[in-house]
Amino acid sequence: MPHTNPPRVGFIGLGSMGSGMTRNLLRAGFPLVVHDVRAEVLEEYAALGAELADSPADLASRSDVVITMLPTPAVVSEVLTGPDGVLAGLAEGATWIDMSTSVPAVAEDVRRRVAGRGISVIDAPVSGMAVGAASGRLQIFVGGDDAEVERWRPVLEAMGDPERILHVGPHGAGYAVKLLINQLWFSHLVATAEVLAVGVRAGVDLGVLRSALIASPANSNFLEHDVLSVLEHGDYDEGFAIALACKDLGLSTDLAAAVGMPVEVSALVEQVYRRARASYGDRAGEMTPFQLYEELVGHPLRLGATA
Ligand code: NAD
Repeated sequence: MPHTNPPRVGFIGLGSMGSGMTRNLLRAGFPLVVHDVRAEVLEEYAALGAELADSPADLASRSDVVITMLPTPAVVSEVLTGPDGVLAGLAEGATWIDMSTSVPAVAEDVRRRVAGRGISVIDAPVSGMAVGAASGRLQIFVGGDDAEVERWRPVLEAMGDPERILHVGPHGAGYAVKLLINQLWFSHLVATAEVLAVGVRAGVDLGVLRSALIASPANSNFLEHDVLSVLEHGDYDEGFAIALACKDLGLSTDLAAAVGMPVEVSALVEQVYRRARASYGDRAGEMTPFQLYEELVGHPLRLGATA
C-alpha cells in the first residue's frame, strides 16, 4: 500500500511479536526507526532498510508515532518514563501506541505526565501469536479517542487483519479486552483438562467423552478446536511461554482488584498456571497446565491412543 508522505514509525521491542510486526510495517512502506536492548537483533534491521536508535528518547525524537511491544507493564513504564525514555524525545503532536499486553494504570500515568504537550496515547494490544505477527493478521483491540484511532488505522492495518481491528472503547479498554480474552481462554483450558482427566479416570474413552461434550450445551471453541493441539499432537504451544501466560493472569486479577471485583475462578486458574510454571519451567508452553492433569491420570491424554 503506497503512502504519500507516510508517517515515521518508531518501534521498540523486537522480540517474538515485534520482529514480525516491524517487517510488515516496512513492507507497507512506512519509514521505520527501531530500538531494543538486545543489540544483536538490531544489526539485521539496517539491512532491511530501518534506522537504528540508541535509546527510546533518540527513537522518539525521530518518530511521528512510537509503538511499544514489550514484555511487562514495568518495562513499558521504564521505557516511557525512565532516563532517556520515550517521553524525553517525543515532539508535540506525536502519538504513543502501546501494543504490549499491559494494564491501563501505566498508560494513565504517561497521559498525566504528557498533559499539555499535545501528545496522544492509544492502547492496542493484540491476539494472534508470533504466527499472526509474521503474517500481518493480528487481531487488535484498540482503546482511545475516535479521531486518533482513525488517524493511525493505516499503521495498525499494516500489522493486523483490517476486519478484526476493533475499536473497543476509550483509553484502557483495549488492555482490558485483551486481558479478559486471555483470562477466559486459560480458564477454558484448565476446566477442560480437569473434566477430560476425570472422565478418563472414570473409564470413559477420551474421544467419546470429547464428542459427547461437543454435542452438549457444554461445548466450547476450546473443546472443538484449540485442545486438539494437545490431544492430537502433544503440542503445548511453546510459541507462547507460560511465564508470559502467568504475567497475563496476574494482570487480569490486578485489573479485577482495581475495579473492586472478586474473581474466585480467575484466581484459581492463575494458581494452576503458577503450579505448571513451577513444574515445567518459564519457557514451557502456555498449554502445559494440561500436563498437570495428565500426570494425575498417569499417562498423556491423546486421541486414538490406548491407555
Ligand atoms: P519477547 O520477550 O519475545 O520480546 C520482547 C522484546 O522486548 C525483546 O526483544 C526484548 O529484548 C525487548 N526489551 C525488553 N526490555 C526492553 C527495554 N527496556 N528496552 C527495549 N527493549 C526491551 O516478547 P513477545 O512474545 O514479543 O511479547 C511482547 C508483548 O506481546 C508481551 O506483552 C506479550 O504478553 C504480548 N503478546 C505476546 C504474544 C505471543 O504469542 N508471543 C501474543 C500476544 C501478545
